[in-house]
Amino acid sequence: MFSAEKSPPAFNWDEWYRSTGGRQIQIDEVDAILAEIKEHQYPRFTGEVASKVTRFDSLESAAKAVKQKAFELGADEVGIAAIESSDIYQGREVKESLAIVVAQRMLWREFQEVPSHDSAVECLRVYFTLGEVVIQLADYIRSLGYPCTVEHPIGDSDVLHVPLALKAGFGELGRHGSIIHPKMGPLFRLGSVITDMPLATDSPIDAGIAAFCDKCKACRIYCPADAIPDERSPEAGKDHLGNDRYMVDTGKCFPYFAKHNYCSICLPVCVYQHKAWAKDFEGHATKLFPEIDMQTPPAPVDPKVDKHWYPHIKRD
Ligand code: SF4
Ligand code: SF4
Repeated sequence: MFSAEKSPPAFNWDEWYRSTGGRQIQIDEVDAILAEIKEHQYPRFTGEVASKVTRFDSLESAAKAVKQKAFELGADEVGIAAIESSDIYQGREVKESLAIVVAQRMLWREFQEVPSHDSAVECLRVYFTLGEVVIQLADYIRSLGYPCTVEHPIGDSDVLHVPLALKAGFGELGRHGSIIHPKMGPLFRLGSVITDMPLATDSPIDAGIAAFCDKCKACRIYCPADAIPDERSPEAGKDHLGNDRYMVDTGKCFPYFAKHNYCSICLPVCVYQHKAWAKDFEGHATKLFPEIDMQTPPAPVDPKVDKHWYPHIKRD
């Protein structure tokens, strides 16, 4: 059984919304998808484990079968990482030793204008479709005779998807605090299935992305809330390559994010979103750069309630 005392507490969305004056994004499609996740996906997190255990020739062949299944189910990326105590939210316990991390990209064409109704709905759409991938992948693993747990992308999970995805080789942490995948860029969401099924693990990568971020400041320039920093911060801890992390000021970001359709400006403006391969894959005509609706930022907040662990920059 793994548990963690030094890692962050789980994100408390309700408290955060309260601290910014309450949830102000009212989009019917978003509410409908949230209800769909709750009513039709949550009850399918558990299932029967087959009594006959399927054995594979090697850890590699087992990992290959699981990844192939994830891709068949609609994953755009999948990787496997060992779970360490720092990957578990404070106060939570996890008995499984491995995470199968799964990503699904969000469509570039829905981020042609940010923040917008379309970009907000796209975030939720992928939470739902990626939720289906992890639920059905968990069913597959149970059919092989191995117990497992669904860690849905929408939140309230026991594990932190981001450090697990970095260990599983998904990419590098960008200045904007999101993972940048060398091919997908930063516009994707993460979920996981955790298990003790014996599987080969993947390795972190160095594709030169973090080094590029040290020169590029596109997200920093376009962030309407001035939440993305100029420099890396030694007090923010290290990324998987040993670099000091960039410390996004969530006290500035979140009030804007909560009032303006989950903002997301820093993702489509990211230089890694503009490569030829990052454009729309389904043949839809798209722009190279989004239209940005930068509204005046609300005052930063310092919620007195349960803070998320993300480092918080002190302001005057
Ligand atoms: S979501 Fe918006 S406010 Fe938050 S860091 Fe990104 S650009 Fe800035
Ligand atoms: S916009 Fe530039 S600095 Fe920001 S995360 Fe992307 S590559 Fe890094």
